[in-house]
Amino acid sequence: MATLFVSDLHLTTERPASGQAFLDLLESDQARQAEALYILGDLFEIWLGDDAVVDEYRSYIEALKRLSESGVPLYFIQGNRDFLTKSGFEAMTGARILDHHTVIDLYGIPTLLMHGDLLCTDDVDYLKFRDMILSRQWQDEFLSKSVNERVEYGRMLREKSREAMQGKQEMIMDVNQQAVEDTMREFGVTHLIHGHTHRPAVHHFELDGKTVTRTVLPDWYEQGGVLRCDETGCEFQPVPS
Ligand code: MN
Repeated sequence: MATLFVSDLHLTTERPASGQAFLDLLESDQARQAEALYILGDLFEIWLGDDAVVDEYRSYIEALKRLSESGVPLYFIQGNRDFLTKSGFEAMTGARILDHHTVIDLYGIPTLLMHGDLLCTDDVDYLKFRDMILSRQWQDEFLSKSVNERVEYGRMLREKSREAMQGKQEMIMDVNQQAVEDTMREFGVTHLIHGHTHRPAVHHFELDGKTVTRTVLPDWYEQGGVLRCDETGCEFQPVPS
């Protein structure tokens, strides 16, 4: 038995190969036999509310539902693209939305799961923006707009995000090591798994006299990948093709 982790699929019709790879993963024996599948955010390029599901997402939602109905627990941590997933999303997919910081016992290793954006503390502008979009007031107001208005707003946001990213240094968009260490200490874990930065890697470092691990999941823009963990440890696996 194994536990699987993915993130940053950014599903969109602009990258049909990634979408197909994700569908193949959900239908694969690897997924069907998994103890659980964790999706650590940015599953969708943009999620504009549970009542505004675009047709292009239907096949993914149905595939997720089939997997959860087959008995595989499905867990989801919201990313910065799909923070508007709510109970409707849970009902559609059978996935359970977890806290932005979630600690699990991963075969005896206390492991913190996050999307990863909260670790990028050098990006002060983004964190301010994040506070705004996670506020009840902003969300109520946004979700009261018509679907067309939300689509338009989403387009504008992505445009702005692209512009903002072009002006930022590479370092600002990566995690801040101090934030990583503070967070791991706060939650008492020796393993942290996250996505968001699109810089897949396994980092080992010393924390309070212990060697700890930070695993960064790959995005699915081109290749994608799954982190598979069992009693013997964790390893990256290519997506089924
Ligand atoms: Mn992200």
